[in-house]
Amino acid sequence: MKLTWNDFNKIRNIGIAAHIDAGKTTVTERILFYTGINHNLGEVHDGNTTTDWTQQERDRGITITSTAITTFWNNTKINIIDTPGHIDFTAEVERSLRVLDGVVSVFCAVGGVEAQSENVWRQADKYKVPRIAFINKIDRNGADFYKVLDEIEDKLKANTIAIQLPYGSESKFKGIIDLINMKLIFWEDKLGLKYKTCDIPDHMIEISNEYRDLMLEKLAEYDDTILEKFFDDKNLITVYEINNTLRKVTLSSECTPVLVGSALKNKGIQPLLDSIIKYLPEPKQETNDLVALAFKVSTDKYDNRIVYLRIYSGSIKLGDVIYNPRTKQKERVMRLSEMHANKQISKKIIKAGEICTVVGLKTTKTGDTLCDKNNPILLETMIFPKPVIGVSIEPMTQSDIEKLEHALELFEDEDPTFLTKEENGQTIISGMGELHLEILIERLKLEHNIKVNKGIPIVAYREKYTTQIKHNEIFERKIGDAVKQSTYFKNDKFAEITFEIGPSEDVGLTFKNESELPKDYVNAVKKGFNMCMLNGILGYPVDNLKVTLLSGNYNSDSDEMSFEAATNIGFRNSTKKINPTILEPIMKVEVVTPEDYIGEILSDLNKRNGQIQSIDKSIKIIVPLSRLFGYETKLRSLSSGRASSSIQFSHYDIKI
Ligand code: GDP
Repeated sequence: MKLTWNDFNKIRNIGIAAHIDAGKTTVTERILFYTGINHNLGEVHDGNTTTDWTQQERDRGITITSTAITTFWNNTKINIIDTPGHIDFTAEVERSLRVLDGVVSVFCAVGGVEAQSENVWRQADKYKVPRIAFINKIDRNGADFYKVLDEIEDKLKANTIAIQLPYGSESKFKGIIDLINMKLIFWEDKLGLKYKTCDIPDHMIEISNEYRDLMLEKLAEYDDTILEKFFDDKNLITVYEINNTLRKVTLSSECTPVLVGSALKNKGIQPLLDSIIKYLPEPKQETNDLVALAFKVSTDKYDNRIVYLRIYSGSIKLGDVIYNPRTKQKERVMRLSEMHANKQISKKIIKAGEICTVVGLKTTKTGDTLCDKNNPILLETMIFPKPVIGVSIEPMTQSDIEKLEHALELFEDEDPTFLTKEENGQTIISGMGELHLEILIERLKLEHNIKVNKGIPIVAYREKYTTQIKHNEIFERKIGDAVKQSTYFKNDKFAEITFEIGPSEDVGLTFKNESELPKDYVNAVKKGFNMCMLNGILGYPVDNLKVTLLSGNYNSDSDEMSFEAATNIGFRNSTKKINPTILEPIMKVEVVTPEDYIGEILSDLNKRNGQIQSIDKSIKIIVPLSRLFGYETKLRSLSSGRASSSIQFSHYDIKI
């Protein structure tokens, strides 16, 4: 049976991914404009765009949190999940990719493939998300469509198929050559609302034929009809056959169609929208039972807790009681909406394939599955990295203490890579990088009107052991000992435990009991080890530990406290013998700089214990986080503001 476009489901859940500044916000704005959501064109530099909706994003001109916006094009509903452009917010990118069916990757025609584009591309590979590429800013000085096309092939290892060519470049960019229909598309008015097609001008025919042939040749590898016609008579290949095969190879992630345009100059957006519908996937539905994934939690200005859901199957109705298998709690859907930029549209029912927001879910967190109570199902949970850097903060005004606590709770709820803790009477916030924390501190000021003083950043070191050991610990205290003075031990105490302790492959404490001790005492031992892991033997958290409790003894003096104390002392006495080592976070740094500054930048990175990985168009290097404080400021001064860097957590390694 032949498929027609009308047979495809009328929903597309897409993300627009890009390196910061490539034009993602502008592309999104134009999409909303041409699809009729926005009546004014919001320019990023005017600070009134629709998707960048927190005050701070407006000020900084960057997109941090992912918003879901619904719009329509050619009777198809397009849900756009706005993915963040900055490298420090990879957790946001990861979780948006989980709920998308397809991605439009925006590249800058001058900058080409940059660090974050590579990153998002790899993540999209990981989740097997089909992509189309849009080479934006073709109107800029230095724009080069063909160079960027090569870079997408080389750096991202993508099998690209250019389905358009720019007609004119830089300030002479006028329109787009559609290689499928072999027509020139051009825009007549400044707002780009009206566009016309005409024959390809003579001087562009040769290159258009060359790239059309390249397109057909690649498609022929995947489709026999095209292959046959390619050798018999290329003119017999129909538009339908081309589109059908392009869709097939895009969905299987074997190829990436490449388009071109200038969002700022309002050229190229309507064909991009057509391609989103033609080549990117529709959502799949497997069963009729409800399965939904919570991919974001945020709070609106009325303090309502809003949970964003992607519904994979079944439906959610207003007032429904849905089940969270992680918390084993039933949750009631008090409000159900679609997000249209800053506006919510209330709905009575939302079906599979859709993205929606729900108010009323009290215990559901990012990454949780929601389902029918009678058919519990757990989708693979999202794993977020643990914070690598912390800083102490205190409100400038004492009366803000409670307000600060509340605001930090909200941030923690929204952002799984952000943590708050109290230590020695101080509030420590921790996250994935200096910029991450800086942004949250600014949000405290802008959104909650709380100004804070901050301390110097603290690196989140960790502790690990390399070998394992068997250990026996006897804990005994008799009244009459000096200890009796203490208020802690009021009675005699006794506990004996023998255990094996060492590193584990799994995160957390892997605890096995082989002893015949009463359950309460075994639990006390387990609790004791969990407590010990918080500060290790060297003073840092232990990520993984394996303990097997082999045997134990107790008598009438024993109680749970005795076993906890035996564990605590046993932990200290045993771990010092199994090579306790401090691990430190290592960051991936990428610096893009004009050549003149390379020498100085490298010598500075060298002093920071950096290990160069490659120097090509950019410097890629790994550097311990402890040596990177204030790096962006230093880089600015080294390069008179002309170099830029991105810093991202890479891994933990032994501290030198
Ligand atoms: P984002 O960081 O990827 O969201 O990028 P923005 O949409 O904020 O765009 C960054 C800057 O590039 C803004 O000043 C835009 O006005 C500008 N820009 C976006 N698209 C184009 C384009 O097609 N051509 C030109 N010349 N500038 C553009």
